[in-house]
Amino acid sequence: MFDALSDKLKGLMKKVSGQSTLTESNMQEVLREVKLALLEADVNYKVTKDFVNRIKEKSLGSKVIMGVNARQQFIKLIHDELVEVLGGQNVSLNPKNNNKQNIIMLVGLQGAGKTTFAAKLSKLSKKEKEKVILIGADVYRPAAKRQLQVLSEQIGVEFFTINDSNDALLIVKKGLEKASDIEATTIVIDTAGRLHIDETLMKELEDIKAMASPTDILLVVDGMTGQDAVNVAKKFNETLVIDGVVLTKLDGDTRGGAALSIKEVSGKPIKYISEGEKLDEISKFYPDRLASRILG
Ligand code: GDP
Repeated sequence: MFDALSDKLKGLMKKVSGQSTLTESNMQEVLREVKLALLEADVNYKVTKDFVNRIKEKSLGSKVIMGVNARQQFIKLIHDELVEVLGGQNVSLNPKNNNKQNIIMLVGLQGAGKTTFAAKLSKLSKKEKEKVILIGADVYRPAAKRQLQVLSEQIGVEFFTINDSNDALLIVKKGLEKASDIEATTIVIDTAGRLHIDETLMKELEDIKAMASPTDILLVVDGMTGQDAVNVAKKFNETLVIDGVVLTKLDGDTRGGAALSIKEVSGKPIKYISEGEKLDEISKFYPDRLASRILG
């Protein structure tokens, strides 16, 4: 994952380890290269600048460069800052509501991987002994409801939609009634996407949010799209107020810019990542694991 960035940073850390002493000037040089590596990975400019400045301040402030373990401390500083920029800690789903239900509303642009993720999350929740129902309320893409129904049959979870209705609000309302009837504990709602953010989409999502009172609104974004994904997250959060982000397609040739910028820019944590088309290729997001993977 993030191969180019990872190779560059690993190379730089090796260089630091190989130096007999770490002086202020060669540390500045390394930090310049760290900055370039982050920018080449399409990390947001301000995020990159702040990242490097924090390391500079911390290493100079704590006299890291003077100590005997200077090199290890410097490498640890970079690792810790990566963890920080990725969100610090794992953030799980919000607690269940008073009816003991997780109501997870998935939103996002068309093609981001929302429907696939709806199935993945349902499968994972089933494995965690939740009683799951999937609600297909993507009324915009004709094949979406059918796609979700097939996936729910594959996983073996309940599914609800109204095939001949384009009324997303009605589908969600009836779906929630069914969820209560069958005593579901996890309800996953797939909503409609568009090619771009538009007012009709946002209005529909706001209406569903008001009616369903989801415990989590998760925005699904395509990790391959770099800073576009970050901008989408910022905009969705401004209008809808989301609870977290799902980053998909991290198995592809992703540079890493979205993962490393989205928390700082949008203020919302990445809760899950998706690394493939298979239904098991979903993980809860742990910033320290990813930082260790990047630094090797
Ligand atoms: P939606 O329009 O947001 O509902 O998107 P879909 O769930 O239909 O996904 C769009 C395409 O991306 C499909 O071909 C999926 O198989 C694919 N896809 C979804 N998630 C991933 C992922 O994590 N990795 C890869 N490689 N492909 C994915």
